[in-house]
Amino acid sequence: MPCTLVRLAGCPLHCSYCDTPQAIPMNSGNIMTIDAIMQRIRASARPLVLITGGEPMAQRSLPQLLAALRHEDAIVQLETSGAYDISSIEAPVRRILDVKTPGSGEAARNKWDNLQQLRAGDEIKFVLTDEADYRWSIDIIRQYELQSQPATILFSPCWGHIDVRDLARRILDDRLNVRLQLQMHKHIWGAEAEGV
Ligand code: SF4
Repeated sequence: MPCTLVRLAGCPLHCSYCDTPQAIPMNSGNIMTIDAIMQRIRASARPLVLITGGEPMAQRSLPQLLAALRHEDAIVQLETSGAYDISSIEAPVRRILDVKTPGSGEAARNKWDNLQQLRAGDEIKFVLTDEADYRWSIDIIRQYELQSQPATILFSPCWGHIDVRDLARRILDDRLNVRLQLQMHKHIWGAEAEGV
């Protein structure tokens, strides 16, 4: 779906596979007012707005940005590392919760309570770096009974680490009710492209 991506600077995590390390420092990027961000979003007129980072929940002004977006027609998604309590992010914002796998090096930052408060339209994302992450993610799905909650479960292969065809086959063979998510921008524009 055509999407306006709002990338907010700053993240307290340091995932091994981070593909936007330039967004980790809090002083990276450009300072913009919420009005200026909204003008850019309206000018692009796309049906989906994705707030991501960095870690968007590390930004103090996130509530004001979400409040401004309430009046727009677009679907709004917010992608977060799962290291913050997501209960303050109210509907209709759809939350994408990245569950940090062991391969990220940041699994200790997962706030497991977040898994109890998912709603329809939300997504739970597992970025997989290897077989151990795959097995671990299945264990987490079972342990927290994630198949019986309303959010969509995504298995996202870490670029360059996992063979996508192998992962697709494993998902089918193991009869998992999860969605295989590819980083489509990398397939279209290449892994190194920025700003796409
Ligand atoms: S949470 Fe996201 S932005 Fe932060 S280090 Fe991990 S992958 Fe990078």
